[in-house]
Amino acid sequence: MKNDITQIEKLLQDKNQLAIALVAPSFVTDFKYPSLIYRLKKLGFDKVTEVTFGAKMINRDYHKILKTSKGLMISSPCPGIVTTITNKFPKLKSKLIKVDSPVVAMAKICKKHFPNHKTIFISPCDFKKVETESCKTLDHIIDYDQLKLLFQKNKIGRPIFKRKSDWLFDKFYNDYTKIYPLSGGLAQTAHLKGTLKEDEVAVIDGINKVIKFLENPDPKIKFLDCLFCDGGCIGGPHTSKKLTIPQKYNKVIRYLKKSKKQDIPEDRKGLINIAKGLKFTK
Ligand code: SF4
Repeated sequence: MKNDITQIEKLLQDKNQLAIALVAPSFVTDFKYPSLIYRLKKLGFDKVTEVTFGAKMINRDYHKILKTSKGLMISSPCPGIVTTITNKFPKLKSKLIKVDSPVVAMAKICKKHFPNHKTIFISPCDFKKVETESCKTLDHIIDYDQLKLLFQKNKIGRPIFKRKSDWLFDKFYNDYTKIYPLSGGLAQTAHLKGTLKEDEVAVIDGINKVIKFLENPDPKIKFLDCLFCDGGCIGGPHTSKKLTIPQKYNKVIRYLKKSKKQDIPEDRKGLINIAKGLKFTK
């Protein structure tokens, strides 16, 4: 089981085993940036990356597919949506876009560049635990609540930044896909302008609203960008219960703005040729 915390803890304490963190971009709902990077390294991670580069890469496939597709197509990064459609609307299963989710894409990228590192996804979601069980390039998954407990147990609190490298993601940096955990984040960042008209795209978050749409799909819609949780992944089951969805939304937007101002060294950027040779379409 990839969500075995005892095993993950042991692995992080093993000096002979390197590990790389793949952080979901919704992390700002529960952790501070950049201190999370520092705290993860204290916990034992050798490298810390964000899943946003995986999102950038799958966007390219979404764009290509939607350019030539006919009729309704449905986004598939959310395993809650994939499960609901498979179980409740089997006739619509063929409409799910057959492209990897951002974390699966990111795990492929990380394994290509760090084949000896264990890949560990830091996630807001329980559905992802099921989805990633079959992913060969992702070794483990841990949710935000479990990570908080590990920080507590290991007494890893507020950091003191000494070096610049303590507050930057190590690799594959990408800024504009930081809005991916928001409802409509995929449609907004897949460069669909000129491919689909505005009224051909529907953005829906919250499974009840998604089900309502799927029971009677609007024939005009060619792309449904939908997420299971209210507000998107910022409403995931392991995100903060103290904050409202608008508060979490604002945190993501503030994080995006802050990140855009950062001067990122060339060797840390998520450039397209880094993923050369990898396939994200199923
Ligand atoms: S919307 Fe919810 S169920 Fe879907 S991937 Fe995000 S956190 Fe998981």
